[in-house]
Amino acid sequence: MQHDAAYWLQQIRALDLPERVKIMNVCGGHERSITMAGLRGALPKNIELIPGPGCPVCICPEEDVYQAIQLALNEKIILVAFGDMLRVPVNVPKGEPRSLDAARAAGADIRPIASPTEAVQIARDNADVPVVFFAAGFETTTAPVAAMLAAGVPPNLSVLLSGRLTWPAVAMLLEAGKPGFDALIAPGHVATIMGADEWDFVPTQHGLPAAVAGFTPESLLAATYSVLRQLLADRPFLDNCYPQLVRPAGNVSARRQLAQMMDVVDANWRGVGVIPASGFGLKSTLSLHNARLCFPTYEDPVRKRAGEMPPGCDCAQVVLGKIYPDQCRLYGSACTPRTPVGPCMVSDEGACRIWWASGVRE
Ligand code: SF4
Repeated sequence: MQHDAAYWLQQIRALDLPERVKIMNVCGGHERSITMAGLRGALPKNIELIPGPGCPVCICPEEDVYQAIQLALNEKIILVAFGDMLRVPVNVPKGEPRSLDAARAAGADIRPIASPTEAVQIARDNADVPVVFFAAGFETTTAPVAAMLAAGVPPNLSVLLSGRLTWPAVAMLLEAGKPGFDALIAPGHVATIMGADEWDFVPTQHGLPAAVAGFTPESLLAATYSVLRQLLADRPFLDNCYPQLVRPAGNVSARRQLAQMMDVVDANWRGVGVIPASGFGLKSTLSLHNARLCFPTYEDPVRKRAGEMPPGCDCAQVVLGKIYPDQCRLYGSACTPRTPVGPCMVSDEGACRIWWASGVRE
């Protein structure tokens, strides 16, 4: 039987909770549901819900965005990217385009797309022009890119891949010692593809409660209740509170395509640094479709530091769950969705943008 949000809130309020419990989520969709449904205000005051590294646009390394901008500006190509990426700012000298949107305004042919199918169609429609698909995202976005490649793509389509795996970022936080949270709500979309079992390391290796949640307030509250019960009983395990879609091994065919088309590689996370085995790289068999090999690199070695954020922007701290968005000194002053300073205010999955859109003003 499915219970409603009121039921789960009642169950949670009846628990004998410690003075403070911090629960991290690692999914922009979760953060949006939590914030928009006002769950923080509805839960007992001693429960803190912390947004973690759940925004792929926010952690997309600056050098990749910069490379996409430079490719679009300097090569005779069409660059396609998911819409969220277009406004992500990078650090450039004054006067240079600091985002794909700005590069488009400067004359580059940059087109927003919503799915890999659109990239293939644009390549087919423009068979004499190289089309570069700047594909940044977590497992849920990268799996369809793998499916696109597995199905075969036009010869003029190449991919500038910036795919990331979610769990290594959480593992890094846990392995760093004091993780800053007592329990984890694992991402439902990612688990749909990669499987709930991928998050089993949280209770088994680190002794922290974990629950996979869906995107409704009911599912998020059920997961919250589960991890609180685990914590109180001192019996951490991985609970799947999204069994409607999430299987222990995930989507086997999507995982197979990911493994066939991509290698798992060390990868840079903007604001975080290099996390071992946390990125996807195209297999060598796809070198003719690898934009990093097909085009001159516009990499700027200075840019390859541990993921620069714009000056004054605390996105790195927000992404790691160390501060809340409204604790950034630019939040709501210099930085708003109309005038974003950092990527967390650009993306629909960025915590700063979600908090601002929900009306958090202080
Ligand atoms: Fe960065 Fe703006 Fe968020 Fe501050 S409010 S962390 S500047 S995106």
